[in-house]
Amino acid sequence: HQPQTLLGSDSSELDHPDDRPVIEAAWRRVLAAPETVERVEARVRHADGTWRWAEHVLTNLLDDPDVGGVVVNVRDLSERRRAELELERRSLLDGLTGLAGRRLLLDRITQALVWGRRHGYLTGLVLLDVVDLAATNEALGTAGGDEVLRVLAERLPAAVRQGDSVARVGGGTFAVLLEDMASVEEVRARAATLADAVGGPVECGSRSAVLTLRVGIGHSPAPDAGALLAAAERSLQRADGSRAAGQATDVSHVGTRTRNELATAVVSGQLRLHLQPVVRLDGTMVAAEALVRWQHPQRGLLMPAEFIPLAETSGMILDLGAWVLRESCQQAARWRAAGTPYRVAVNLSPRQLVDGGLVELVSAVLRETGALPEDVVLEVTESALMDDPGAERVLAALHDAGVGVALDDFGTGYSSLTYLKRFPVDTIKVDRSFVAGLGRSADDEAIVASVVSLARAVGKTVVAEGVEDLTQLAVLRRLRVDLAQGYLWSPAVPAVALDSWLAARGTVPDVVASGPVADQEDVERILALHRRGASLHTIAAALNTEQRRTADGRRWTTTTVARVVAGSAAP
Ligand code: C2E
Ligand code: CA
Ligand code: CA
Repeated sequence: HQPQTLLGSDSSELDHPDDRPVIEAAWRRVLAAPETVERVEARVRHADGTWRWAEHVLTNLLDDPDVGGVVVNVRDLSERRRAELELERRSLLDGLTGLAGRRLLLDRITQALVWGRRHGYLTGLVLLDVVDLAATNEALGTAGGDEVLRVLAERLPAAVRQGDSVARVGGGTFAVLLEDMASVEEVRARAATLADAVGGPVECGSRSAVLTLRVGIGHSPAPDAGALLAAAERSLQRADGSRAAGQATDVSHVGTRTRNELATAVVSGQLRLHLQPVVRLDGTMVAAEALVRWQHPQRGLLMPAEFIPLAETSGMILDLGAWVLRESCQQAARWRAAGTPYRVAVNLSPRQLVDGGLVELVSAVLRETGALPEDVVLEVTESALMDDPGAERVLAALHDAGVGVALDDFGTGYSSLTYLKRFPVDTIKVDRSFVAGLGRSADDEAIVASVVSLARAVGKTVVAEGVEDLTQLAVLRRLRVDLAQGYLWSPAVPAVALDSWLAARGTVPDVVASGPVADQEDVERILALHRRGASLHTIAAALNTEQRRTADGRRWTTTTVARVVAGSAAP
């Protein structure tokens, strides 16, 4: 809208009819007392006729002689709102199976509890968990393991009654919500039927696996959805092995062996710490993320996906995590002693946060190794924070002690932009699934842009994960993301390899200097002008006039334009 078209008009005519009650209520509250401030989010009609989400801040300045009115500030929120809706949509469904995810399940449990209370039904929750998913992955490969989960996801809806909700709540764990049970016995009976219906042999390509499921149940009364799910998860933990015992299969057999081997690995020096540089967008390294590998005597170098899930279910993660923390702090102390105090980021598993003693462990390891609190960043996921109320306190304590805390995989869990400022973290790591779409998906860009603008507002640092190409880098620069990591600079490598790069060049390999040059938009612009016969000089001048910059932030020159033209001529 132009100011003159609005002058003298009634602003409420621009409000969305559905949002008028909210706005009117805000007005009532604001008018009730001088100096009251009210903030509401509501839709406003844009000059182009569409509805836009906007923040309205109403301030009662009736008593202020200079104003004598109510001041309303309206700010367009549509980008942020769009990002929020997109995040929400993605977080509700499980990417692998298309079933409901954990958060959607929690919503449904909440509704079921209310409905059950009102109508006198018991709410039951059955969890079915693939015993030794790690061993399945090992026997069939990760793709085979995923296939097995998809097969289960297809069998489950066929085995439930209409109206029962099915969800995937974690690695190999599925949930079925039973809304109208008469008794706990009925929940138990249904659980047994379900396990029989979906367990058993699974064909996976030419291989077949016999799957054993553990079963856990929870039922009302429960104070809330989270408590019901937690009760079912505890019952699942207690079921550990009991069903598997009678039905030992090849798959669970491999699992037991791997479990023992992993215990040996931790104490006998088979774990390796690899480090991935975290860089500013000009390529200078500021930190490194510790990523653990297992040098298996027979199977070679194993990646975390092949053993961390097993470490988590077997409790071994506590020893493994302590080992990683100690190694990481040693590395940080070495860098500090060498006069290059890079921070080291350490991944924490949720178990480490809830099992107690983390604060003590961290301070003991710092003392032992001589690293300083500010040399360490602990990475946690949103779900670790949301699922356990104690986790937030533990992190806050570490944070107060000067240790850095980062929110990992942002966008894959609960992903509330609104909660972002509340978490006791100083860094947000945008998950690589969003980074992957930069330059191709406007939704991904809107999400990253919103994370950055919110992070700015509350003084948090943003790291983009999984940066693989220059198009992504160009967008990240435009969005003013602070830090990044990814194969574009380096995968995780042993400390010696990282050190020799740093010694040789003072920086990690600088891909940008040798590579090309522009984001996709500029490339297309350049090629179009080139086709119309514009000289390199004219093209460079045109881009510079529009304040466009090359991927490394410089003004265009005939050389960089030539590089784009030449690059696109190559096969
Ligand atoms: P994460 O914390 O999200 O770590 C990033 C993962 O992305 C790493 O995989 C890394 O190698 C990979 N990555 C980095 N840059 C790129 C890229 O440009 N493209 C692609 N496609 N991938 C990239 P990795 O090392 O296999 O680790 C997987 C996960 O295992 C980690 O995810 C983390 O959740 C877990 N993990 C690793 N080390 C530890 C540990 O010491 N303790 C715990 N609890 N978890 C760990
Ligand atoms: Ca991480
Ligand atoms: Ca991550």
